[in-house]
Amino acid sequence: MKSKFSWQKGANKMTIAVLALQGAFLEHEKMLHRLGISTIEIRQKKDLSQPFDGLIIPGGESTVQGKLLHDLDLYDELKRRIENGLPTFGTCAGMILLASNIENDDSKHLGTMHITVTRNAYGRQLGSFHTESMFHGVGKIPMTFIRAPYITQVSDDVTVLATIDGNIVAARQGNQLVTAFHPELDNATDVHEYFCKIIGG
Ligand code: GLN
Repeated sequence: MKSKFSWQKGANKMTIAVLALQGAFLEHEKMLHRLGISTIEIRQKKDLSQPFDGLIIPGGESTVQGKLLHDLDLYDELKRRIENGLPTFGTCAGMILLASNIENDDSKHLGTMHITVTRNAYGRQLGSFHTESMFHGVGKIPMTFIRAPYITQVSDDVTVLATIDGNIVAARQGNQLVTAFHPELDNATDVHEYFCKIIGG
């Protein structure tokens, strides 16, 4: 199937790093491999010395990942690189890690994206569901939510890419992309391709 994006021209040279401390990092790697993209895993500080063009922060548990970023001394370097324009895609817990404000939690993690999120916004037990909805510039795509957050507020520099029942579930600010859902758990590669297009510039 022909891609909607032109990033494929240079895709064989593209390497995406996946933060592999906890959560659904393997699923992202598998999806990127399906697109012919090389991946590396960020597990410790020395992994940051390898060259890479973009970063994925996976779903999982934001409190655990946030703590590990500090314990493993990854926090400052990653924050600096994201602020300097490293294309970064956060899914679910990854979105919480990038958010500058968490409504129902005192913690703040990387805080590089000007959004306010609510954790476990759909409830803790019954908060997992699957649906299909429009993703701006892409079309209708499957969306799987697992104890997901959603975005309640965005700054002027943030573009809303998808909403469900009026709640924001995907957004972009410059080179940062976030989804409340898990595109790596569905078959459709569209959101990963969208991220590759951001990397491709
Ligand atoms: N509820 C989790 C958190 O607050 C996120 C869930 C997920 O990433 N699937 O970190």
